[in-house]
Amino acid sequence: MGSQEVSSTVDWQGKHVTVAGLGVSGIPAARALHERGALVTVVNDGDDERARAQAAELEALGITVRLGDGATLPPSTELVVTAPGWQPDKPLFLAAAEAGVPVWGDVELAWRLRGDNGREPAPWLAVTGTNGKTTTVRMLASILEAAGLRTAAVGNIGVSLLDAVLGETEYDVLAVELSSYQLHWAPSLRAHSAAVLNLAPDHLDWHGSMAAYAADKGRVYEGNKVACVYNVADPATEDLVREADVEEGCRAIGFTLGAPGPSQLGVVDGILVDRAFVANRQKQAQELAEVTDVNPPAPHNIANALAAAALARAFGVEPAAVRDGLRAFRPDAHRIEHVADIDEVRYVDDSKATNTHATEASLAAYDSIVWIAGGLAKGATFDELVTGAAKRLRGVVLIGADRALIREALTRHAPEVPVVDLDRTDTGAMSEAVARAAELARPGDTVLLAPACASMDMFTNYNKRGEAFADAVRARADESA
Ligand code: ADP
Repeated sequence: MGSQEVSSTVDWQGKHVTVAGLGVSGIPAARALHERGALVTVVNDGDDERARAQAAELEALGITVRLGDGATLPPSTELVVTAPGWQPDKPLFLAAAEAGVPVWGDVELAWRLRGDNGREPAPWLAVTGTNGKTTTVRMLASILEAAGLRTAAVGNIGVSLLDAVLGETEYDVLAVELSSYQLHWAPSLRAHSAAVLNLAPDHLDWHGSMAAYAADKGRVYEGNKVACVYNVADPATEDLVREADVEEGCRAIGFTLGAPGPSQLGVVDGILVDRAFVANRQKQAQELAEVTDVNPPAPHNIANALAAAALARAFGVEPAAVRDGLRAFRPDAHRIEHVADIDEVRYVDDSKATNTHATEASLAAYDSIVWIAGGLAKGATFDELVTGAAKRLRGVVLIGADRALIREALTRHAPEVPVVDLDRTDTGAMSEAVARAAELARPGDTVLLAPACASMDMFTNYNKRGEAFADAVRARADESA
């Protein structure tokens, strides 16, 4: 199965395929391959009750499942299809490499199977980056819809890619969110156009190094046809464009919060403008939308909107659809979500800010902030974050396991800022955090939950953390009403 082959030429009949990992991508992959006549074996590390129930369903179809051993490669394997999260240094992959067996992730499989149902495959507009992927992909889908195109936001979000390429619905174009893990396992993916939003250290334990992480992100540009969209403020993203092997005529398109140069999209006097997809980019700029059309109009979110607009324009979408799509867009929950105003203090839930890069963007969006932060630091340091935000901090409330790390950074770089250190992890902890934040806040301030940490020390996930915050805020709003 060389990388040049397209799906329709792969004869799955009797092919021995090993699917690594039961789960959201493994189960549909196993089914799709089995339906095409492949001899599928699913291997899975876990052997709990849930895995057994899932295994029983697959076995009833005639698929072999091996629980409790995800390390050994079944001897006759001709192809491994892996769940994206599986770490590349697992023995299964080392054995595959030794045996010359290719390894595909869920994205590669979807890419190879597209068109397999006899329909013309829809082109992919792909988005990756450390932060902002989901937001940008959903903005992009909203713009494409406003242009009257049949589309969906897919990938690491909502609809699975495999469902999108094999399902009943016909699409003109797909807005695809891709994680660095998915890109790692997607060697032959060729998007119509793609954007890398930003690059900051994340998931380095998985990739092994920053260079390896960047290289996997950069894979999204490989073979692009029309545009490689990069962030002017993040030169590492432009470097990745330079290193990519793209189709003849594919252009590098920058986005910037400043005035755009030729072949860039940017902002002039509160207007989002396009100096890339216009007849004369030396002299001409096309108005796309107003900054206030972006929801919320925080700087990093305007950057996301520009990236989405660049991809849509690369696909030929008219300026009015960019504006209409941005106006129609509503952000997902827990991403700079405005919860309530109480006593002239605004309460904002950005529980999704699980790393320092995201939190930096979030803190930059407000002038005077009572910041609720803390949780699991995942090896991060907080000096830079605190230094950058110090002037805008009215006060800080710290929660969670690694709060001492943030407190120490505050002591070093913002000793004058009052800090409340909450030494409790029970279910009432968030209510107390909100109450203490309310005490610190003055009219005009924003109480911002942007933890810069993962949530799992206190909550099931960032959604639950955000809900606990929003519940506590609403309870206060009801009391004060
Ligand atoms: P992802 O899908 O990459 O995790 P999201 O759109 O879900 O991205 O946003 C995740 C977090 O990152 C949010 O908390 C948000 O505040 C922050 N964020 C969103 N866009 C950007 C950006 N362009 N730069 C930095 N941080 C961002």
